[in-house]
Amino acid sequence: MDVDAGGSAEVAGGAWPTEAFVATRHFGAARVDVLSDGGFTWAPELRAPEEEWRRAMPEANARGEIFLGHNMVLIRHGGVAALVDAGLDDPSPVSPWMPPKARRSPGVQAGLARLGLAPEDVTHVVLTHAHGDHVAGSAVERDGRRVPRYPRARYLLGRRDWEGHAALAAPDPLIGQHLGALHRAGALDLIDGETVLAPGIVLEPSPGDSPGHYLVRLDAGDNRLYVVGDLFHHACEVQHPDWVSPGRDPVSSLASRRRLMAAAAGSGATVVFSHEHFPPWGRISSREEGYHWQRDEAEAPGPAQGRGGRRAGMLTPPRVARCAPPPPRSVAALPRPGRGPRVGPAGRAKPGAPAPTPAHPGWPVPPLQGAPGSGVCGPAW
Ligand SMILES: [Zn+2]
Repeated sequence: MDVDAGGSAEVAGGAWPTEAFVATRHFGAARVDVLSDGGFTWAPELRAPEEEWRRAMPEANARGEIFLGHNMVLIRHGGVAALVDAGLDDPSPVSPWMPPKARRSPGVQAGLARLGLAPEDVTHVVLTHAHGDHVAGSAVERDGRRVPRYPRARYLLGRRDWEGHAALAAPDPLIGQHLGALHRAGALDLIDGETVLAPGIVLEPSPGDSPGHYLVRLDAGDNRLYVVGDLFHHACEVQHPDWVSPGRDPVSSLASRRRLMAAAAGSGATVVFSHEHFPPWGRISSREEGYHWQRDEAEAPGPAQGRGGRRAGMLTPPRVARCAPPPPRSVAALPRPGRGPRVGPAGRAKPGAPAPTPAHPGWPVPPLQGAPGSGVCGPAW
């Protein structure tokens, strides 16, 4: 893996204002902190006509890549400190997750430290699914051995992501090693069905992005929060729930999305997904033409977010992750799942397809090393 030595300066730590990668809200008696691990570019290769998804996602570059944020969520409620997803490793020049593959913040550990927390303070780590960008921070090397990073935590993972994971039979360096270390240490709990982590914190199966994918529901007083992992990667997948990337199960994805969208819209819940740009707070609403995910306006990037200068601004871009509305009548013409042409990098576009939209001005998306579409958000599964 190529490592851009210049990236190390970006993660040196102290120069980052906390609000550039840690966002806090209170839900009743619960405190919730979003810890951004930065982000990366990814070509979703959605099963939808290119004209449709390019109109909806105008920030996509000529290769069909978009920039994804990467958010972990710490829920503290009733004596529990539950970290939803472990994120990546510690940013350093030797990390395989450095620029140009990913754009790093100071990292999850630095975020916890800004909150005055040590790894020992985390009581649970909920792994929404077993894709590399969600589990790579689970374990850490100590004295030549990989051990759980959070020594007092129980790690929870959907059983179907453990028993069905091909990487466990032939461990790959990212998934097999990390999950294997948790298993060897006796720290991994495999879960089935709806699971109550603690009063007010419920883990709900939401298969699709992976067979054992889970989302987290927090109920605190009259407040509800859903942390939905990779049920959606982009706001457009709310507006178009049949838009699914290769390797995902389109049938169970659609069913899980519909279930969540109805529950979230009906309850007025806050909805956070892993790969929305930081800060990721938003809501799902039901309109005549379908569901929409909308960033909370109060959290939209503005002057108050820019105090860290250009570096902080990198994590709070303009609201490009919203899904542009379709033209009138186009909803009825949307293809059914599996019928649309597979699209993605511009090189695969059919002759006569509209010219690619240039990357969003002011929000440069760095090209990935390697083949287009080789993003880090999960294997072809
Ligand atoms: Zn992901």
